[in-house]
Amino acid sequence: MSRVVVIGGGYAGLACLIELAKKDRHLELHLIDAQADHCKITNLHKTFVKPIETFRVPYQQLAEQFKFNFHQQQLAFTLLDLKRWQEEKSLPLGEERLSFDWLVVSTGATSQLQATAADVVGLQSLRRGDGKTLLEKAIANYSGEKLELSLIGGGATGIQVLFELREVLRRKRIPHQLRLVDLNPRVVPHLPDGVPRYIVRKMRREGIDYLPETSYISQCDGQVQLQEQATGREYSLSSDLTLLFPGVAASPTTLETNAYGQVTSDGQELSHIFSAGDCSKFDSFGLNFLTAQAAVRKGKLVAGNILKLAQGEKPRSYRYQEKGYLISLGAFDAVGWVGLRCNLAKGFPANILKEAMESQYDLFLKGVDTYVGFP
Ligand SMILES: Cc1cc2nc3c(=O)[nH]c(=O)nc-3n(C[C@H](O)[C@H](O)[C@H](O)COP(=O)(O)OP(=O)(O)OC[C@H]3O[C@@H](n4cnc5c(N)ncnc54)[C@H](O)[C@@H]3O)c2cc1C
Repeated sequence: MSRVVVIGGGYAGLACLIELAKKDRHLELHLIDAQADHCKITNLHKTFVKPIETFRVPYQQLAEQFKFNFHQQQLAFTLLDLKRWQEEKSLPLGEERLSFDWLVVSTGATSQLQATAADVVGLQSLRRGDGKTLLEKAIANYSGEKLELSLIGGGATGIQVLFELREVLRRKRIPHQLRLVDLNPRVVPHLPDGVPRYIVRKMRREGIDYLPETSYISQCDGQVQLQEQATGREYSLSSDLTLLFPGVAASPTTLETNAYGQVTSDGQELSHIFSAGDCSKFDSFGLNFLTAQAAVRKGKLVAGNILKLAQGEKPRSYRYQEKGYLISLGAFDAVGWVGLRCNLAKGFPANILKEAMESQYDLFLKGVDTYVGFP
């Protein structure tokens, strides 16, 4: 019986495990993850309203459903370790070693800047479920006329958090001033022009200050320290809470792979070690963005390729092309594109589509795969 070990049970790791569990009942499957629960990260911006538990699924529950073994452990490793593990066909797990026939590394990405002060919220705070508490603390303690909030980062995550906050504060009738600080000259730079235009118009309408081409330096004692890119001028603004979403980077590092997902190092492939998700960069024309959409497709492809290789068949190249991208702008609005990049979707219909995508993933975790048209 072949043994497959997956490190990291996010979108990519679970997609791989679920596919393997469905396609070959004779495999022995193992998942190693630092956390006890799978986190549906694409919903984290909603945790200012809903409890984090809404978006967590215990790995033990998934392990029983899809018949894999779960080990809760944070593994520290480098590319050199992977090379050694490939030779030894095993990896360290606590005091023991876990042997494998195939290893999949899907450890995702982490925030480029960590929240260090008490009045700073970052990705890790949201993952822990602390967003709501930190916001409530800021609401209870602000001393000026208005609660002032600074959001750093005009990428998809930052924008989703910004409008979610706007809605929470409006609903609670808290006098507030929101500002968006972004290093780039335009928000969501990877999306078609109509998307940033829609977002900037909405920010203007809702009275949100927008500071493009401005970099964040620090947050200290209720003040956010900023720097104007064009002039180098440094200045500070009052900020009761600063939310840091400046982007993520692969964790622990970007793993280059061939077109089949096998990790490569100095042009040589580690034939029994695959990577998928945000930590992987496939050498193919398939989608390499750090998105859940790409992570699920890479995870499924890697599962299929492990099965093919185990049966002596040729693996398949990664060719998945993006089918669209939507950003939620609160509970009733969203913007993005669907099908073709020129096909803009906005408003309530776009929001419904976005929620349908979340439901599609929920179904996937229940064993119903509607990711049709793959690759
Ligand atoms: C707020 C927010 C909203 C987003 N919205 C969207 C969206 O609308 N659409 C979209 O397509 N994408 C979205 N994304 C991006 C998407 O969430 C990621 O691309 C996706 O989670 C990547 O999946 P992954 O499996 O590679 O990594 P993750 O889902 O991050 O999973 C990695 C797993 O590995 C584990 N792990 C990490 N290191 C170790 C280690 N050393 N040892 C053991 N375990 C480890 C972690 O605990 C985690 O469970 C959003 C991201 C955020 C933060």
